[in-house]
Amino acid sequence: MEFTTAEPFLHNGLLQSFELTKYILKTNVYPREPSPLKELREVTAKHPWNLMSTAPDSGQIMGMLLKLINAKKTIEIGVYTGYSLLLTALSIPHDAMIIAIDPNKETYEIGLPIIQKAGVEHKINFIESQALPVLDKLLQNKDNEGIFDFAFVDADKENYLNYHERLLKLVKVGGLIVFDNTLWGGTVAQPEEAVSEDRKESRRSIIEFNNSVSIDQRIEIALTPSGDGLTICRRIR
Ligand code: SAM
Ligand code: CA
Repeated sequence: MEFTTAEPFLHNGLLQSFELTKYILKTNVYPREPSPLKELREVTAKHPWNLMSTAPDSGQIMGMLLKLINAKKTIEIGVYTGYSLLLTALSIPHDAMIIAIDPNKETYEIGLPIIQKAGVEHKINFIESQALPVLDKLLQNKDNEGIFDFAFVDADKENYLNYHERLLKLVKVGGLIVFDNTLWGGTVAQPEEAVSEDRKESRRSIIEFNNSVSIDQRIEIALTPSGDGLTICRRIR
């Protein structure tokens, strides 16, 4: 399989090797990627912020998790053009739902025609907003506590711990909260002075998040080095 229009997407990732990243995508990910997702990835590749899109190898893990737990009610924080959103919508049953939150509706609308064509728009409740007020509003109603099976967080890194606290109340015991970019391009293991200025603040937030979840007794965790680092948290109490 050749890398065509989607190639600008590719970065060397945590493996720090284009060849190895390409190998994984070429052998295991792209041949099984549903065609609407491939189309969305190719459309996104033409957008200037395309590196924001969820890495397809991380997407493959998420799809597997969603199916393993038979997720029906999910939350997504950080939509962009909708790669992870469409992936979620394709991985959950016909009558399942996603609350998808992003203050940028314009980028969501880039992928929306593909989501519509794939016949999964009815599963999505897109809320054009910052995520914290939406989560706080959900939590004002006690009936929303512990009703979600799955949440995916891929937005402002400075709020990861704030999202974590709220999602731990919204997601049921046994449910999953998955956080993207938790290795932040590998910079978490580099001295701060080696990191470019524009990455420092988020790096600090990610390090604080990683330290905090590593000792959080309410969850089990697995940090997988796929894409840019994917931390899977399973609520256990
Ligand atoms: N998961 C997306 C995908 O697969 O294409 C990528 C998300 S992108 C890395 C981050 C997104 O978070 C952007 O679309 C941005 O508008 C959104 N965002 C930034 N701050 C946010 C906030 N406070 N609440 C919700 N979304 C936010
Ligand atoms: Ca991301």
